[in-house]
Amino acid sequence: MGLKPIIFCDFDGTITQIDVTDLILTELAHPSWREVEQEWVRGAIGSRECLERQMALVETSETELNALIDSVPVDPHFEKFYRFVGRRKLPFYVLSDGFDYVIRRVLRRAGVDGQLCNGTDLFASSLRLEGRRVVTSYSYPPAPCGHGCATCKVGILRRMARDHHPTIYIGDGLSDRFAVEESDVVFAKRKLAAYCQERGVACQQFENFAEIESAVRGLIGKPPARRPRPSVAPVTAD
Ligand SMILES: [Mg+2]
Ligand SMILES: [Zn+2]
Repeated sequence: MGLKPIIFCDFDGTITQIDVTDLILTELAHPSWREVEQEWVRGAIGSRECLERQMALVETSETELNALIDSVPVDPHFEKFYRFVGRRKLPFYVLSDGFDYVIRRVLRRAGVDGQLCNGTDLFASSLRLEGRRVVTSYSYPPAPCGHGCATCKVGILRRMARDHHPTIYIGDGLSDRFAVEESDVVFAKRKLAAYCQERGVACQQFENFAEIESAVRGLIGKPPARRPRPSVAPVTAD
């Protein structure tokens, strides 16, 4: 790979081991959220409308919501991977159909604190509590895309990559399906791996970020060797 790749990474089920939005809905929403889910599975509505309606069915307190978020297991190799991409100065973006409040709280616990700002390094929807109700908003893109995505991952990928860089995509689910079709290298698990297989999109299956780190090291090659320091001060001719 001649150029430095840009890395795009999903959050739910990829950085975390389970889908946090699903957990919030299962634990805190009125059971009719599952009917809305079926409309989305059938393709009748996009993920933006789906999440807007589902999250409106959640009733909770800040303490309860935070405790639930804090119970979510994170890939134990993610923090090391994040430090690796930082050291090698690889652009790294988290693209998520989930919510910034949740993501930032999980990442803080995973040792990635305050470094991923929504709209800069992280693209996700927003969530805030009003009393015991959850209010959501969707900014990426500000107007709904043709797919009806909560966050349009492929739209962001096109904008950030602008055809200059090889792109790497890491994900696990159907919200990643439009983006993988336009990525050069794909790391996939679960539903996304099945989708790639079905559609003939080349992908490398993964279980954790240790595997991705070693594959990315292989792709980008060794870091340039540091120039050895001269053992004696160079003689300047003047
Ligand atoms: Mg996911
Ligand atoms: Zn879209």
